[in-house]
Amino acid sequence: MGNVLVTGGAGYIGSHACKALRAAGMTPVTFDNLSTGWRDAVKFGPFVYGDLLDRPVLDTVFEEYSPVAVMHFAALSLVGESMRDPGLYWRNNVSGSLNLIEAAVAAGCRTFVFSSTCATYGEQDNVVLDETAAQQPINAYGASKRAIEDMLRDFEASHGLRHVIFRYFNVAGADPEGEVGEFHRPETHLVPLILDAIDGKRDALTIFGTDYDTPDGTCIRDYVHVGDLVDAHVLGLKWLQEGGESRVFNLGTGTGFSVREVLDESRAVTNRAVPVVEGPRRPGDCTRLVSGSTRAEAELGWHPRRSTMKQMITDAWRWHQTGHYEG
Ligand code: UDP
Repeated sequence: MGNVLVTGGAGYIGSHACKALRAAGMTPVTFDNLSTGWRDAVKFGPFVYGDLLDRPVLDTVFEEYSPVAVMHFAALSLVGESMRDPGLYWRNNVSGSLNLIEAAVAAGCRTFVFSSTCATYGEQDNVVLDETAAQQPINAYGASKRAIEDMLRDFEASHGLRHVIFRYFNVAGADPEGEVGEFHRPETHLVPLILDAIDGKRDALTIFGTDYDTPDGTCIRDYVHVGDLVDAHVLGLKWLQEGGESRVFNLGTGTGFSVREVLDESRAVTNRAVPVVEGPRRPGDCTRLVSGSTRAEAELGWHPRRSTMKQMITDAWRWHQTGHYEG
């Protein structure tokens, strides 16, 4: 059923997507600069080392593999880092995506699945975050992703680039078979940091802010299992291949968990104590980001089956104890 160019295929979500594409009968061709990804995570198809800022390498990849579609995961994605160094985000995410989109249309590849984020919505009190909500990002990461969404719309108008945009809420968990999992160096994400604190790899989990306007004072997020998330990508690709129009889908479950609730569930699943310290807010963090849409379920037939907090922590904990990458 053809090659799919997977940028960021050596990363956390991209590697799970490669496994799902392979299971669906396609060949994922990973394109990755290994800045945050791992060569060891590329297990399901060919690997091309390269950077999105290097247009000639991209052109070569399109020529060599003639992909039927692009899944574009490669990006810098840390809110805090984006606030300290916005130039990194505008250069890597926005200029890199522009190169990729131009290379794709030049090669005649006009089917594109893009990883966007609920961070494009920003801080919106009492607003249901469905796909029609205004996009008012409060950090450079979200702003860079919103810019790429705009770019895709313009290239659809000019070059017929058909696309599905997925706005992720928070992603957690790991491949239940343990072939791939979440492994960042340095780690900044809540669930793996909690697991590090539980097994002594770090002293404690610092809660970033306890004075938010939420029931327990900590930020609320909507967590989706990485396996469910990548299933949606395969469905989105099929949607485009069957002639569906360009579309935006939130990927969340509609249920929010506070940082303290994630800590409680982690204690319950692992049956271990979590050392915790309370710290100040992290710049760029929104109070509450929870999806208010079931469009992906209704239109793509997506069923987020594994996205209970218990299942996500169970799978993340298994990976945490058994899996890691070395290079
Ligand atoms: N968080 C925290 N301590 C940490 C890391 C994260 O309290 O060491 C909080 C963070 O403020 C946010 C939530 O956990 O409310 C999820 O953060 P993460 O970095 O995992 O994902 P993000 O929401 O930034 O995409």
